[in-house]
Amino acid sequence: MMKGIIVRPGLAGASLDDIGEESGNGRVLVKTLYTGVCGTDREIVAGKLSITRAERGDRLVLGHEALGSVMDPGSSSFSKGDLVVPMVRRPGGCANCAAGRQDYCMDGNFTEAGIRGKDGFMRESFYEEERFLVKAGSGSAGIEKILAEPMKNVMKIRESIFGVIGRGLWDSVKDKGAWIFGTGTEGLLIGSVLSSVGMRVMLVNRHGLPEIAQELARHIGAEFFNSASGDWASGENAVPMDMIVDAAGAPSILLDAVRNIRHTGVIVLFGTGGAGIEEKLNGGTILNMVDKNLTVIGCEDGAREHYEQAVDFISENGEKYGLGKLITGIFPPEDASVLSAKQVGEIKSVIKW
Ligand SMILES: [Zn+2]
Repeated sequence: MMKGIIVRPGLAGASLDDIGEESGNGRVLVKTLYTGVCGTDREIVAGKLSITRAERGDRLVLGHEALGSVMDPGSSSFSKGDLVVPMVRRPGGCANCAAGRQDYCMDGNFTEAGIRGKDGFMRESFYEEERFLVKAGSGSAGIEKILAEPMKNVMKIRESIFGVIGRGLWDSVKDKGAWIFGTGTEGLLIGSVLSSVGMRVMLVNRHGLPEIAQELARHIGAEFFNSASGDWASGENAVPMDMIVDAAGAPSILLDAVRNIRHTGVIVLFGTGGAGIEEKLNGGTILNMVDKNLTVIGCEDGAREHYEQAVDFISENGEKYGLGKLITGIFPPEDASVLSAKQVGEIKSVIKW
């Protein structure tokens, strides 16, 4: 019997059930060690994520953040005991997908494990093609490697930033100020990476900073601003506003940002969602974007190289920055509560298989 957490796309609820056995066909057999839980999983479980669809029939195995151990390498070059992180997005039929950059898919015919059209990793084990597995070390697992999936998004953000700063005649990002909105897992990972490239980091949210996040902020030398306590956009802040990253899924921030960001600034939109922006967007915003030569980057997903960079970054800096402490709760697969609601004090909850 193979247990896994299944959902029925479009309907609310999730259950731990027997999902049946697969056949390997030369693929790698991976024992699941940990799966991460994020807001996307909870939207799916609430029946609210419209893009969700099953791989076959009407059910989908949930889970897109995973760390596993190779049980049987099949015909691959992996060895038994290798730690692996599976990629989420699988190619569609366009030229970018054919080049291994399905993160820039143009026809939309990709699938995503645990989200749309492909079963995910919240199960005891799974078979996977070698080309979709990224090696994350071997032997006993450092649990912080589960952060490789969200971290790969950050590595693509880093690549995107370096791809456009030359347009604003920035010779480097050193000592430029980055304001990061949102202090969940993604916001904190973005902060650690931008700090590591020499930027001055300001973390912003609408409430106090949890203790674990405060500790990470100290490690990376970031400052913190509680936007409920005053006007973040007053311009009287120590960290200059050269770059804004929305990791809060609140793009209305963009509208205040374009008023206050410095000339040739870069705005990265990462969190999804567009609620409430219509009422505030006006010609003045657009004029500011033009006048200041701003660059706005939408950024989504990441490619194999970003997973590899993520694994390397966590290996090299995980201890220094205390990234493992971002994992605030470990749950058994039988405990469905973690799938339906954010836990008290949560930054990243994981399921141990
Ligand atoms: Zn494509």
